Amino acid sequence: MMELKGKKVLVVGLGKSGLAAALFLRRRGAHVTVSDIRSAEALAKDIPALLEEGIMVEAGGHGLLTFRRQDLIVVSPGVPLDTPELAQVKSFGLPVIGELELAARFLKGKTVAITGSNGKTTTTALLGDILQEAGRHTLVGGNIGVPVVALIDESSDETWSVLEVSSFQLESTQQFHPNIAVILNITPDHLDRHGTFENYALAKERIFAAQDDHDFVVLNADNARAAAAAVRSTAAVYWFSLEHPVQQGAWVQEGHVVYRAAREAATESVMPLSEITLKGEHNVENVLAAVCAARLAQAPVDAIRRAVASFKAVEHRLEYVTTINGVEFYNDSKATNVDATAKAIAAFSSGIHLILGGKDKNSDYTQLSQLLRARVRAVYTIGSAAAKIESHLRGVVTIQSCETLDRAVSAAADAARPGEVVLLAPACSSFDQFENYEHRGRVFKELVNEWRGWKVWQNA
Ligand code: ADP
Repeated sequence: MMELKGKKVLVVGLGKSGLAAALFLRRRGAHVTVSDIRSAEALAKDIPALLEEGIMVEAGGHGLLTFRRQDLIVVSPGVPLDTPELAQVKSFGLPVIGELELAARFLKGKTVAITGSNGKTTTTALLGDILQEAGRHTLVGGNIGVPVVALIDESSDETWSVLEVSSFQLESTQQFHPNIAVILNITPDHLDRHGTFENYALAKERIFAAQDDHDFVVLNADNARAAAAAVRSTAAVYWFSLEHPVQQGAWVQEGHVVYRAAREAATESVMPLSEITLKGEHNVENVLAAVCAARLAQAPVDAIRRAVASFKAVEHRLEYVTTINGVEFYNDSKATNVDATAKAIAAFSSGIHLILGGKDKNSDYTQLSQLLRARVRAVYTIGSAAAKIESHLRGVVTIQSCETLDRAVSAAADAARPGEVVLLAPACSSFDQFENYEHRGRVFKELVNEWRGWKVWQNA
């Protein structure tokens, strides 16, 4: 474990995890400075608490001298590692680590880390519930909400921490060493930051870089790029698959989730698929991954079954909103890339009125063509990506340009007939018109409820 007392540490980026890291470091006796390019006004709500703890704050830019006089630099996941100041101090040999790396060096007990392009939050929350149900002292954190450093004080040797980790966090890990690492899938996302698909995939593979042959890695046998990671892992490889039996791991057989601990071991039935309440095959994949990790953590089958059966969709993840005049409304605001949108469409057989758009992430929307033709009645576009989406999908499906979410909701709700579905699964990030995807999802739900009020008033 590294000594922090008396060390000079700079935290770059004052997001949720930067703030938690700064407070943790200070409490362990480090001399802490926080530097953020946002203005003092933008950071105003956090500054008093920091100053009170004796943490120095540099706002409105990074001074090169601030970066030089340090023993350690801790970078927030939102800050690109090729930021000039960081590149320069690295070349001087100063250690630069992320919040995840810092936290992992102090966290006690066992760790399961979950990454992937889609499904991380759902699978992390589900596995947390399972281990809890199995009677373990369980902590859940990472990208899902609570920064990992904030879990340290609660952890003991008996703890199981279930961590959602993003490719941004993994980019800056060195010794991060989960006992069980899960890669759910690797499909194009964040190419605006990682440059190429291969760079992005290699960042995800860092999840098992420090593992050894006492550890486990769980991979998706049905996802080509995730499966290809197996050859570079030194841990024992377990698989999950929707499509076929695997040597060791979890799969679907005769309508049941089944698991096998080794090629020679007996196949155990975990639960019937009918008990899974989450919608869509992609969520069965998440269940398979969680079941596999849970069995590797020696959670009993009956606890797994109970936890999965009572698990409800996390907000904004293909979340059922309501039914109005026979039309179902679903909020999948977290579908911020093309693959997640494809999975959301695939969860309904037909009659979908789909709201697409937001801020483009250099995506290829033509990949949705086949699903749109087969299942979607009309697309309603919003946001700055609308023109690009329309040019990619022209002739494939009926498209209505709506520009804003309120117009899209009323157009879609007006057009939908009983038995059909209005689905927000925008395939884009939200930052052109909303604070974040949560904000977009909440606004969607409010608009749906307003529309219901309007219908009631019209019918009265
Ligand atoms: P993440 O934390 O990786 O973003 P979430 O659980 O928040 O994952 O889900 C993100 C989006 O991806 C949601 O739209 C959800 O419906 C969809 N999704 C969830 N699981 C999967 C999966 N296994 N494959 C593809 N899409 C998925």
